[in-house]
Amino acid sequence: MSGAGDPVGFQERLKTFEGRAAASAGVGKDLVNEAMIRHWCEAMGDANPAYAGPDAIAPPTMLQAWTMGGLSGHTDRSGAYEELFALLDGAGYTSVVATDCEQEYLRPLRPGDRITFDAVIEGISERKTTKLGTGHFVTTRMDVRANGEPAGTHRFRILKYAPVGARRGGGAERDADAGKSADAEKGAARAVRPRPVVNRDNAGFWEGVAEHRLLIQRCGGCGTPRFPWLPGCNACGSDAWEAVEASGEGTVFSYVVMHHPPFPAFDPPYAVGLIELAEGVRIVSNVVGVEPEKVRIGMAVRLEFLRVDGELEIPVFRGSEG
Ligand code: ZN
Repeated sequence: MSGAGDPVGFQERLKTFEGRAAASAGVGKDLVNEAMIRHWCEAMGDANPAYAGPDAIAPPTMLQAWTMGGLSGHTDRSGAYEELFALLDGAGYTSVVATDCEQEYLRPLRPGDRITFDAVIEGISERKTTKLGTGHFVTTRMDVRANGEPAGTHRFRILKYAPVGARRGGGAERDADAGKSADAEKGAARAVRPRPVVNRDNAGFWEGVAEHRLLIQRCGGCGTPRFPWLPGCNACGSDAWEAVEASGEGTVFSYVVMHHPPFPAFDPPYAVGLIELAEGVRIVSNVVGVEPEKVRIGMAVRLEFLRVDGELEIPVFRGSEG
């Protein structure tokens, strides 16, 4: 392991990789084209008029998009890049994380431009210690050309590192998680959990919650129970219904454990279950009272009401282990 520092001469060996090809030279799979520009602008919500019409240019930030291989791929790592990774792996820097990227735009890209590119290993940092662990940053520079002229550069940096947790038998990782959790709690104190949208079709449900009753609907035409609340029956179309109180017994029909992305006011990990009520309808809510990792399909759960803050109370389901 690299805990006591790199072996003598290691940095010099790393430096010999600088300037070597990081990937084989490539050709863009498509010419710069209006359809990809339009899809990009729609996805980004970018309505800049420069990107539409007869004199359209491509958004500069699309630079890398024109070089991407898609699912079938085409930008194979070079032998040098593989060799560098093997060297870093061998020194204990087995993990990798992308850290940042920088782009420089030299000329606008227009529909019809043919893209070519190549990539070199531009720099390898000295040994650095970060919160994730200790390792070396590797910067790759891709030079992009349009019809043979320089069009821009795309630099991206990764950290090849020895994870803190691996070196300390997992204890440090847990500590890091505890820290993250404390941060999330601080965030939760500031952020307010989202409010439900109450409308005339579901107001009766929330009135029930206020009285600690979980109300579902039963069709007045065919007797089919339904949830969530709707004005009409999906089975027979009738708009006649009555509210009935669910017993509160249920089972986990399906679930996810949320780790990422973190949302303000929520403290991951937590379990979100699709609960099948004894009455035959399903409801989405948190499964509480058991470690999220221990939630299982088929687990018996029981309704309870969670007071989230001064204004909000919600039905949740308490699981029971074993
Ligand atoms: Zn019905």
